[in-house]
Amino acid sequence: MKVEVMKNILGENDKIAEENRKLFKEKKVFVINLMGSPGSGKTSLLERTIANLKDKLKMAVIEGDLFTAKDAERIERHNVPVIQINTAGGCHLDAPMVKRAAESLDLDALDLIIVENVGNLVCPAEFDVGENIKAVVLSITEGDDKPLKYPLIFKESAVAILNKIDILKFTNFNLESAREDLTTIHPDIKIIETSCTTAEGLDKWYEFLLNTV
Ligand code: MG
Ligand code: ZN
Repeated sequence: MKVEVMKNILGENDKIAEENRKLFKEKKVFVINLMGSPGSGKTSLLERTIANLKDKLKMAVIEGDLFTAKDAERIERHNVPVIQINTAGGCHLDAPMVKRAAESLDLDALDLIIVENVGNLVCPAEFDVGENIKAVVLSITEGDDKPLKYPLIFKESAVAILNKIDILKFTNFNLESAREDLTTIHPDIKIIETSCTTAEGLDKWYEFLLNTV
């Protein structure tokens, strides 16, 4: 019974996700579904990205948050359009939520929308929102065991950002085994090590965006 319900929910979601994807394609807007745990640095990465690329790419952000507008307020300071979605406790964004948010954006004026998903390594990966690619942020403080423990999100993501690389030396995070596990789960995944504090590695992320969008 439970399996049937889940199938129907995903079926309905996928239908709207396809409509979203079609609309984004028509409007020539590239969409990234940015996922990762709470505190992994998704919003910090977005702030850095907007500050560095907003003259090259016309960007907007859709911010998924459980209850607050804290992340959206951080993005708003950078003068790009930002649409807040409060999931009222819901642990992921789905395609209908992104559809409603996109209705408030001028898609003709955009090259790129980054959707910051709710902080969670599990179900955001199960819900297609109509994105072109998924990206996952994994911070050094979360531990190198996370790729094997939450394989789906890494399997689904075109790129994994290993964030907070500046504090690697203070932790027991094994970079080599994390890289190995990521590649085992997803042979084609692009791995970028970054620090939003020191800016280390961010140039590789920007280069990836400029080449991909
Ligand atoms: Mg955030
Ligand atoms: Zn969920």
